[in-house]
Amino acid sequence: MPGVFSLSIDVELAWAFVHRKKIDLTKVTSISINVRKAINNVFALLENYEVAATWNILGHLILNQCSKENPNELPHSDMPHPKYSWLNGDWYKYDPCTNVNEDPAWYGKDIVDKIVHYVRRSKVHHEIGCHSFSHQQFGDPECTEELAKAEITKCIDLMKAEYNISPKTFAFPRDYVGHLDELKKHGFVSFRDVPPKLYPCTKLEKTPSNYLKTYSSLALQLLSYYFLFPPHVVTPKETLHGLVGTPGCLAYGKKPMIPLKLVTFKAIQGINKAIQKGKVFTMYTHLRDFGANGNFFSNFEKVLSYVKSKRDESKLVVKTMSELPRGYNE
Ligand SMILES: [Zn+2]
Repeated sequence: MPGVFSLSIDVELAWAFVHRKKIDLTKVTSISINVRKAINNVFALLENYEVAATWNILGHLILNQCSKENPNELPHSDMPHPKYSWLNGDWYKYDPCTNVNEDPAWYGKDIVDKIVHYVRRSKVHHEIGCHSFSHQQFGDPECTEELAKAEITKCIDLMKAEYNISPKTFAFPRDYVGHLDELKKHGFVSFRDVPPKLYPCTKLEKTPSNYLKTYSSLALQLLSYYFLFPPHVVTPKETLHGLVGTPGCLAYGKKPMIPLKLVTFKAIQGINKAIQKGKVFTMYTHLRDFGANGNFFSNFEKVLSYVKSKRDESKLVVKTMSELPRGYNE
């Protein structure tokens, strides 16, 4: 059995940071402007190496604008707002309630239009997945069923209304998995599961035990890069009947204290390991990374070029997330 490579690109812009106490708004805005300049080059790269991706779209980006009926109201009063005990202020506190021209980091219908247009014309078979409406934390014990359901339905309703797309794959924000039964009810067949780490910790609640787990996990990650340990490769697993989870193996992007060339090296190791073991190597990245300065494009191209060379040798196949269940489910 050949190895499998699966690439996901999460499209969320500044919404990735809404759980934070502080955001550098100037920086996220400038990145979102750069993403718009770079996006055609991203398409050209994928097309050149014939690598399909799963594009996980955040629902709020499908909007051109949003507004409040009166200034005393919170944004999106039609949506449940989470009451996480660790959260500083309201979940939508950064939502500017303006439009794409004024605040391009928070709206992205122009970007999603381009992605859908590209995906429909591409010579390879891409997939459009769902990344929730507002980057909600599904695995948090305080994320209610009502909230999970609203986050899913709002995003899939927007996809249906704007593009007539019904997503089959769900990517949990911050890989914080929860409410799988809701995914199944809404027609999803595939999701990105928690990455295999020694001490997985995505919890935002600031307890000493979570701090310890997070920092041990980061320290181990750091060591794994400098000691050139290959990443995990995985087998998709049917978690609920008809719903298959595949862990993300490598979050590809700039990491603190780790040069991008080491991350690229790890990606190549992952591809080789998937080939050797006949398993799946899932790599995921964020569209905003293509808008950051530096050598992201050239490093990312090295990975795609390696994928192409191994596919040309018939050692590797490329699949989107919802294609993975077929034939790779033990
Ligand atoms: Zn809004």
